[in-house]
Amino acid sequence: MTTAEKTPLTTAPSGDHSGTFIGGAWLDRATSFPSVDPATGETFGHISASEVADVDRAVASARAAARTWARTSPSERGAILGRWAGLVFQNMHRLAALEARDVGKPLSGGLLNVQIAGSILQFTAGGADKMTGATLPTRSPDYFGFTRREPHGVCAIVLPWNVPAVLCAANLAPALAAGNAVVLKPSEVAPLVIHALVELAEEAGLPAGVLNVLTGVGVELGATLVSHPGIDHISFVGSVATGRLVMQAAAQNLTPIKVELGGKSPNVVFEDADLDVAVPAIVRSITENAGQNCNAGSRLLVQACVADEVRARVVAAMSEIRIGAWHEDLDMGPLVNPVQHERVSGLVTGALGDGVELVLGGERPAGRDEGNFLAPTVLSVTDRNAPIVGQEIFGPVLTVETFTDDADALDLANGTDFGLLACIWTNDVSRALRMSSEIGAGQISVNQFSDAGVIGMPFNMAKQSGFSAGNGYRALYEFSREKAVAVKLLG
Ligand code: NAD
Repeated sequence: MTTAEKTPLTTAPSGDHSGTFIGGAWLDRATSFPSVDPATGETFGHISASEVADVDRAVASARAAARTWARTSPSERGAILGRWAGLVFQNMHRLAALEARDVGKPLSGGLLNVQIAGSILQFTAGGADKMTGATLPTRSPDYFGFTRREPHGVCAIVLPWNVPAVLCAANLAPALAAGNAVVLKPSEVAPLVIHALVELAEEAGLPAGVLNVLTGVGVELGATLVSHPGIDHISFVGSVATGRLVMQAAAQNLTPIKVELGGKSPNVVFEDADLDVAVPAIVRSITENAGQNCNAGSRLLVQACVADEVRARVVAAMSEIRIGAWHEDLDMGPLVNPVQHERVSGLVTGALGDGVELVLGGERPAGRDEGNFLAPTVLSVTDRNAPIVGQEIFGPVLTVETFTDDADALDLANGTDFGLLACIWTNDVSRALRMSSEIGAGQISVNQFSDAGVIGMPFNMAKQSGFSAGNGYRALYEFSREKAVAVKLLG
């Protein structure tokens, strides 16, 4: 449902606004934090920061709205989500620019993410009135038993900064469609597009108080939110370290929780793979969003007999990657902030100290002296115990390892604590299906990276990548609970 742009981008997006949305109003607060362009270090706006006391206010606002929203017909909830999706498509260039500048990704990357967000809203809108329970068998006609789906009540949703529009839609849409009120905490690192999306939700007719937003430093605000006794369900997306803290907080109140954490996803390339298809996709999988995706293809595992050719082609393609600021709209942008730049550079330096070979990159690209730029980097690894092959780097850094046969490929692919996505490159359908059942990951792609072409593909996880049914139809069930009803018929 793409329509003409409602608000075309004429100037660079500003970061000046409130980050606190409670009871249908944006509230100004005393302190603020800057929005900083990752390509230049320039401050382009300020967001007034939510106070810790706002957690109580936001939860109270959501609780006050929750009952009426839960009793609103699911078709009406779906209609509001559908109107929201339409507004997202109408405003997609403005939204894309906000995400691109805030995160540092190329404008076309922002556009793709906003289109995905709109599609998720649209898909979920259609599911709002199709969630059903079951009629249960009974011992005699004198009984009747059924189950029904009910919302949790008030959901806390805590998000990271890397793909804010997609994650906002992927969590908010099923939470709202299932009849929950929400307190949402975007990452303070890149919240701009989420604030704009929330404005559009209001415009679509979402009642005041059903969605509340708090923006501020996570360790205070996020920790207070997820340990609040007025929260009935937590959805957390972020790092493993923070995920553990959030789960501990959830344990105190026995709050149900879904967590979507990090990844170390392998591209497994067999001797019979179509390299013309595989190589560009592998390169994209680690350079898109400068490798700052949970499902980034950060491990290249290649069958030894084709390893030299594959490595040479991947290195050649990665050295051609064009790097620039968001508005230059090239292949890859900078890392999101100096902390991330230092972290990723430090992991590369540490790997070289462990005996890993630097094949490409590892430093700032030529001519990019300011901002958080890091050149696409390839590391060749022979020691399977090198720490770098198990750590989530979250940057444009690819490790390359070789395997001998299918069993060896499986050992390598399953050799980390993560289990998000695995991509299998082969023309042998039996091998592809065997691998897809043996690899410990929530999602498998064969001869493509990620889930292109599949509508409503669940974003599932295994091992320390988390546990949830993110995205797709099942997400509606994640954001609702089942009630069982048993009736004795009298008379
Ligand atoms: P992070 O864990 O540092 O922060 C995530 C969110 O938690 C932020 O909003 C932050 O403010 C908040 N937070 C921080 N401390 C908190 C606390 N003690 N209690 C509650 N909330 C707290 O992660 P990040 O750096 O923003 O994002 C990068 C990570 O997110 C990577 O590990 C990436 O793999 C992961 N990620 C996962 C998925 C997925 O679907 N599996 C998607 C995107 C990103």
